[in-house]
Amino acid sequence: MPVRSQPAYLLDLMRRSAQRLEPDYDLEVVDVKRDESDEYPVHVTLPRTDSARLSQEVTVRTRYAAGCDGARSRVRATIGQMLAGDTANHAWGVMDALAVTDFPDIRLKAAIQSASKGNLLIIPREGGYLVRFYVDLGEVTPENRDTVKQTTVECIIQTAQRILHPYSLDVKEVAWFSVYEVGQRLTERFDDAIGVDGAMREPRVFSAGDACHTHSAKAGQGMNVSMQDGFNLGWKLGAVLQGRSDASLLRTYSDERQPVAQELIDFDKEWSAMMAAPPKDRNHPEAGGVDPAELQAYFVRAGRYTAGVATRYRPGALTGEATHQSLASGFTIGTRFHSSPVVRIADARPMHLGHVARADGRWRLYAFSDTSRNALEALCEHLATSPESVLRRATPSDADADSVFDLRAVLQMPHREVRLEDLHASCCRAKADTA
Ligand SMILES: Cc1cc2nc3c(=O)[nH]c(=O)nc-3n(C[C@H](O)[C@H](O)[C@H](O)COP(=O)(O)OP(=O)(O)OC[C@H]3O[C@@H](n4cnc5c(N)ncnc54)[C@H](O)[C@@H]3O)c2cc1C
Repeated sequence: MPVRSQPAYLLDLMRRSAQRLEPDYDLEVVDVKRDESDEYPVHVTLPRTDSARLSQEVTVRTRYAAGCDGARSRVRATIGQMLAGDTANHAWGVMDALAVTDFPDIRLKAAIQSASKGNLLIIPREGGYLVRFYVDLGEVTPENRDTVKQTTVECIIQTAQRILHPYSLDVKEVAWFSVYEVGQRLTERFDDAIGVDGAMREPRVFSAGDACHTHSAKAGQGMNVSMQDGFNLGWKLGAVLQGRSDASLLRTYSDERQPVAQELIDFDKEWSAMMAAPPKDRNHPEAGGVDPAELQAYFVRAGRYTAGVATRYRPGALTGEATHQSLASGFTIGTRFHSSPVVRIADARPMHLGHVARADGRWRLYAFSDTSRNALEALCEHLATSPESVLRRATPSDADADSVFDLRAVLQMPHREVRLEDLHASCCRAKADTA
């Protein structure tokens, strides 16, 4: 059965992108330095690693550098950051298997606590055929490391069968399997904003992903959180390099993302401890263990991390205080924008509001209106004409009116009852949407 790996998918996307990006695998970062006297103050040293050019070394002079170089990050070391946290790693056996089973929830995300044979996490794979099994192999010590590393796929299958008993598990094919170890660790900052003299400076070198935080597999969040780091840093670098934002915006990257990683690790530690515990025996509560209902509730909470809606940025340069939270009680300030099905007035097409926004570096302004639309009209008039208007102040006079802010109106009425020509012109520049 053909299984397309994630790296292949992403590489393909890069290759077909407007920039026609191709990674160069034959360069290794060995050093990153800052020279403030240079217009391009970040100097990255990269020796070639392919045998034909082993003696060659490339130096890149740049304004900013981002180290996405994984858990053994060289970039992290050069900016003086250290991963701190668990002293020992935890081992996992993971396999994507095609299995025949009478376990009824094989098509659902499931956490299974067996009485005495250990615990298992089941995650159905996209495509509908394969299922990923995560089997906890326990803590890795210097004494057991070699043995743990040699765990075979047969051993993982047998462990999964023991945990699932009395249900049967007949593994027909394993598309991929791995034994890996990970510790929950985090760096203090995700940038080099603290200089060697301890004073704060503009950050120029950043770390993202496993380079600054590593997690257990149980929240399934390593790659997700890493990509969210990349997105957070990406739009900010874009805004600064295109002259649309002050360089101080880049400070918010570490300020926002580091606490998110810390929260995830705290959550994941608790979750891992619960997963490792046996089920509580109601007749003998003194024996300890975790009540399955408690485990279930926590599992549902874990889903919020997987879906990316658990992130809540604290008040800071980009996130307001909760002073006006009562105006939108269902949408917590600092969390991700919630999507909803809408119908676009301009062409009557049903769509998801969240899918309308493209990652093009523009700010989004959503105006939710009641049916009278008086407040919407007043807001649009203010945005279009007032000298105080954030839209007018931020948009260069020679640029398109929606080049910095993308204004969308969301109306609480059927789209057939709205006439485009009755809406303020600033709503019609972008096609107005109505729920
Ligand atoms: C078995 C397994 C299962 C997992 N399952 C999940 C899951 O279900 N969900 C999830 O979200 N996450 C999962 N993860 C975690 C996820 O894979 C990582 O969190 C994610 O890959 C981190 O991405 P990254 O880009 O930060 O680092 P990496 O993917 O480690 O990439 C770092 C890259 O930098 C390169 N590099 C390193 N040093 C240098 C250098 N000095 N110079 C040049 N290049 C360098 C490396 O070769 C590598 O290509 C899993 C991990 C493992 C091992």
